[in-house]
Amino acid sequence: MNRTDRKHHALAAAAENDLLDPMAGFVDLAGIREAVEDLTKAFAPLGRVQHTVAAKACGLAPVLRYLADLGVDVEVASPGETAVAEAAGVRGRRLVLDSPAKTTAELAHAVAEGTAVNADNFQELARLDELVGQHPRSVLGLRINPQVGAGRIGDTSTATAASKFGIPLQDNRALITEAFARRPWLTRLHVHVGSQGCPPELMADGVAAVHELAEEINAAAGYQQVTSLDLGGGLPVNFASEDPGPTHADYVATLLARVPALADGRYAFVTEFGRSLLAKNGFLVSAVEYTKVAGGRHIAVTHAGAQVAARTVLEPEHWPLRLTALDAAGKPKTGPAVPQDVAGPLCFAGDLLARERPLPLLEPGDLVVAHDTGAYYFGAHYAYNTLPRPAVHGFTVSERGDVRFTPIRRAQTLAELVADAGGEHVGALPEA
Ligand SMILES: *Cc1c(COP(=O)(O)O)cnc(C)c1O
Repeated sequence: MNRTDRKHHALAAAAENDLLDPMAGFVDLAGIREAVEDLTKAFAPLGRVQHTVAAKACGLAPVLRYLADLGVDVEVASPGETAVAEAAGVRGRRLVLDSPAKTTAELAHAVAEGTAVNADNFQELARLDELVGQHPRSVLGLRINPQVGAGRIGDTSTATAASKFGIPLQDNRALITEAFARRPWLTRLHVHVGSQGCPPELMADGVAAVHELAEEINAAAGYQQVTSLDLGGGLPVNFASEDPGPTHADYVATLLARVPALADGRYAFVTEFGRSLLAKNGFLVSAVEYTKVAGGRHIAVTHAGAQVAARTVLEPEHWPLRLTALDAAGKPKTGPAVPQDVAGPLCFAGDLLARERPLPLLEPGDLVVAHDTGAYYFGAHYAYNTLPRPAVHGFTVSERGDVRFTPIRRAQTLAELVADAGGEHVGALPEA
C-alpha cells in the first residue's frame, strides 16, 4: 500500500477513533521505514556512511527510537535535543553534536560520552583544546561555511558569505589548515549548505568545497588526517503534491557527478537529513470549530495555527502547505471549490494556515488536513496564547486497511501549561 492510501485509511480511522479533538499530528511509521531504506540504498556507493536524523526536524523521543532501530543515529544541536535523544536510548557514538552556541558543559558532556562534535568556530576549538586529551573517544570535526551562496529561502540558507554558521572558507583557508596542523585529533570536516530551497547542485558545491579542503589539509599533514566528511542534510521536499520531490538517490547522483572521488573509499561520511526523511510522513488534522463570512471572504476557524505551523503562518510565501477538506468521518469533501481562509486559533489576524484557498466549503465539524507536516511542524511547537502541544500518534496500516495507532506524544494538559507559565511561583513576587 502506498503512502497516500495509508493516509486515507489513517484519516478515516482517526475520525472514527475520536483522535481529532480538536487537533492531532500523525506519523506514518511505514513511510519513515521506506524513507530510511531509500536513504541507505542511495548512499551505498559512498561506502562507509553514518546516517543521522536532524533532531530539530522532529525531536520526539519515540520517533528517534524508531529511527535508531532502523539504523539512523541522531544529530543534536542543543542540550534539550541531546537529553531527548539520550532518553530514547541513542547516545555516545550514535550522536553528532552541531550547534553554533555549545556551552563548555555541553562540550564536556559530549567528549565524555564519545559523541562526535563539529566545532563551529575557532573559539570553540580553543575550548576543545582544554577538554580533549591526545586520544579523544569522540570524532571531532570543524564546520565549514563553503560560502557557495543562498538558496530560495534566506532564513534556511546557511552557506551565504555572512552566515552565522561555521568558519567561512574563503576568508580562512590558511587558518583552517593551520588549525588542523596543530590538532592531530581533528579528523572531520562538516558542511550543511542549507535546508529547503537549496537545490542539490548548490549542496554539491558545498560538498565539493570541503572535499577539496580535506585533500589540502591531508596533503599539508603528509598523511590522511581528515578521514570523514559530514555532509549535513538539506535535501528539499516537494510541498506541492504527494510526489516527494528529489530523491536521496538523485542527490547522490548529483554529488558523484560533481565529485566522483567521493566514491573512492578514502573517506567515511555522515549525513544529517531531517525534512527529506520526515516531512512527507506526517500530517496534521484539525476540526473546523466555526465558519463565517467577512468582507465577502469565507473563513473557517480551525485549531491549527502558528503554534503548530509557525513558518507557514509567518512566512506564507515560502512555506505554503497543501490542505484537504474532510467531512467529520474523515472522508474527502466534495463540492465546488470556494476560496476560503483557513484560520488558526491564535489571537493575531495573520494566524492563517492558508488564504483564499479553493476548497469545498467547510462547515463546523469538518476536518482540515495539513499535509507534509512531519518535519518542523507539530514537532516544533510555538507557545503563543498558551496553546497546548497537540497529541501525536504513530500509525501502521495492514494490507487489508486496518489501522493501528500508537501514541508518540500526548497532548499537553492544562496543568502542564500552568506549570510552564511559572505556576509554581504564583505569590512569589513581592507584594504589589
Ligand atoms: C537543520 C539541519 C539539518 C537538517 O536539515 P534538513 O533540511 O531537515 O535535512 C542538518 N544539519 C544541520 C547542521 C542543520 O542545522
